[in-house]
Amino acid sequence: METPTPTFWEIVLEFHRYRRPYGSEYEHHVVALLQSVGFVPCAGGIIRWGTNRELFLTAHTDTVGVAGANNLLRVDGRFLVGDGLHNIGADDTAGLIILYHLAQTRPDLTLFAPTGEECGGIGSREFCEAHRDALPRVVISLDRRGYGSVITHQRQERTCSDAFAQQLARMLGRDYAPDDTGLFTDSAVFSRYGSLECTNISVGYENAHCPGRASRCGVFGVADTAIGADGFHAAS
Ligand SMILES: [Zn+2]
Repeated sequence: METPTPTFWEIVLEFHRYRRPYGSEYEHHVVALLQSVGFVPCAGGIIRWGTNRELFLTAHTDTVGVAGANNLLRVDGRFLVGDGLHNIGADDTAGLIILYHLAQTRPDLTLFAPTGEECGGIGSREFCEAHRDALPRVVISLDRRGYGSVITHQRQERTCSDAFAQQLARMLGRDYAPDDTGLFTDSAVFSRYGSLECTNISVGYENAHCPGRASRCGVFGVADTAIGADGFHAAS
């Protein structure tokens, strides 16, 4: 595994500058960062259209917790750590950082950053309502804690097939495997609107939604997961 570069950490810190509840002014900070690499406004959020519109990757721009600055972020080994009192919003800032990198390297991929996921998927519902006749076949949310989940079910409802999850887990490598214990994220909304294969994969954060403990953003997934020509794969 390669050691993350200083530039990498600068980007990680910049994206985590604020906790950003839905509708708060602080959400604009990450929206502006993504617009600097080609995202444009769309129903429910911002999007970077790719040449492939059958596959969407998503990460949401809002976070849980009290709005405000993360003043005491520090790097601890391979983790970003907060003040121990507030969550740092790594859910889903970790996913946004992956979208930011992919926007600069993968013109084929369509990258969607909805708002309001933590309030029931408000942004994704708006998008699906506005694009009912042109929804993607496959939606991969980059919004799962930990290091090895390829989610097949959200709130016990199946959102992708076992065959799809197994294939994606093989592409991702490492410890990735199908996992039926998903809760809810944006891809579940697309599933309800008819997208066929909708999953959520681990992007390396821990302690989601947990103030009172040091929230940590595992950069493992951000640094080393890439998407190959035929889908996700783990970079060597
Ligand atoms: Zn999330």
